[in-house]
Amino acid sequence: MENRILGLHHITAIARKAKKNVDFYTKVLGLRLLKKTVNFDDPGTYHLYYGDERGSAGTILTFFPYEDARRGSAGTGMATNIGYSVPEGSFDFWIDRFEKHNVIYNKPSEKFGEQYLTFLDPDGLKLELVIPKNPDNRLAWETDEIKANVATKGFHSVTLTLRDIKGTAAVLTDVFGYTLQEKSGNRYRYITDAVEHAAIIDLVELPNEARGIGGAGTNHHIAFRVKDEETLMAFRQKVAKAGLNITEKIDRNYFYSLYFREPGGVLFEIATDNPGFGIDESWDQLGSSLLLPPQYESHRAEIEAVLPSLD
Ligand code: ZN
Repeated sequence: MENRILGLHHITAIARKAKKNVDFYTKVLGLRLLKKTVNFDDPGTYHLYYGDERGSAGTILTFFPYEDARRGSAGTGMATNIGYSVPEGSFDFWIDRFEKHNVIYNKPSEKFGEQYLTFLDPDGLKLELVIPKNPDNRLAWETDEIKANVATKGFHSVTLTLRDIKGTAAVLTDVFGYTLQEKSGNRYRYITDAVEHAAIIDLVELPNEARGIGGAGTNHHIAFRVKDEETLMAFRQKVAKAGLNITEKIDRNYFYSLYFREPGGVLFEIATDNPGFGIDESWDQLGSSLLLPPQYESHRAEIEAVLPSLD
């Protein structure tokens, strides 16, 4: 069981103004700011992490906010919708909240027998709240305004839009151990039984849709979860054996990662549970100060000087 892909680990997207991003995800949506660090490949840009109390895998949403980024456009070869699980009966609360904060949203609808409420973040990134068929028992992060009876509980699913689902579906089933659960029109729901939550990937096939263009308001990659580095490296072999190019193991400070582009064009990552977000901050202080990986610590003053204020 433990040497399997354990659903989603994190999802990473691109934003513009960092402060706007923090305000939206912590105040309007009520996620915890888990970590304030920099893009390890571009330390003049923040890397912001949001999630539950301890940054459990399957709750982590991260952003690279480029202050003046051009807006991207969602399309094929991209993750195009992020689903959060919420408690039954919470939609009235969320609709009121979206009205109050001028969030763009759609009226609730249903797919695969589950109610969902679509909304956009300030950069146009598409998300949805979903009331899952099976109640979600994960512990929610609460804020003064958003209590556990309405708060998000982490990921329900992610949707990938593809010109042709075949290659992507093969990676999910043959390499990652997912199975096709249901199909409705051009939407195919894949699920893993390795975990209870954050276990769903929807593939939507749109053969004539334009390719997605990366930029603010679009997804950058999705990461799947494994327990440890040994499992990570076992998956490295499996992905390579499937004929796909995959990176070496990369140390992301809070997890170890591998990246590969799946045949449908979406950037996939595989990331470990270890060492986790407690490695450089105490649990009650998560997200409270700017944390830099060791290689940038000697440049802290210059880095702080170029990063925009979040207050
Ligand atoms: Zn990642």
